[in-house]
Amino acid sequence: MNSKKPFWEKPLDQLDAGEWEALCDGCGRCCLHKAEDADTRHIYGTNIACRLLDRETARCTDYPNRKRHVPDCLQLTQAKVGEVTWLPDSCAYRLRHEGHPLPEWHYLVCGDPEAVHAAGASIRGWTVAEEDAGDIEDHLAPDPL
Ligand code: SF4
Ligand code: SF4
Repeated sequence: MNSKKPFWEKPLDQLDAGEWEALCDGCGRCCLHKAEDADTRHIYGTNIACRLLDRETARCTDYPNRKRHVPDCLQLTQAKVGEVTWLPDSCAYRLRHEGHPLPEWHYLVCGDPEAVHAAGASIRGWTVAEEDAGDIEDHLAPDPL
C-alpha cells in the first residue's frame, strides 16, 4: 500500500537519489548566510545571498561545482537533515523528516515551480548580494530566515 504513495509522501529513507534531489522546493532559503554567536552558539539569519545564488530564480548557478566555490555549502543528506537546526520551517526535507506533508505550494503537489515564489516562501525579492551587503551585522535577523 505504501508503494502507491507518491515519493514525497514516503519516509525519507525510502527515497532514491533522484527523488531526494527532487524533493527540494527551490526556495533558496538555505543559501542565505547565517552568523553564529561564538559565546551562545545561537545562529542568526541574514538576507545576504550566497555568491552562487541567483536571487531571482532562487537556484544555485553552479550546483555541480558548488563545493569548489563555496566549500562550506551544506550537502544535505538523510543523516544530516535532523541535525541542521537552521533549516527553515518550510524546508521540504525538514517537513518530511518531521512527518509533515508538503505545503500546497510545493511544485510536486501543485505542479507549478513558480508557486513557491508566489506564496512568498522563497528568497525572491528581499535578499542582497554578498558583494553589496557590507557588514553582516547590519543584516542579522533573530533566527534563520
Ligand atoms: S531550504 Fe530546503 S527546500 Fe528550500 S532550497 Fe534549501 S534544501 Fe531546498
Ligand atoms: S553554493 Fe549554491 S547550493 Fe551552496 S549555498 Fe551557495 S547557492 Fe546554495
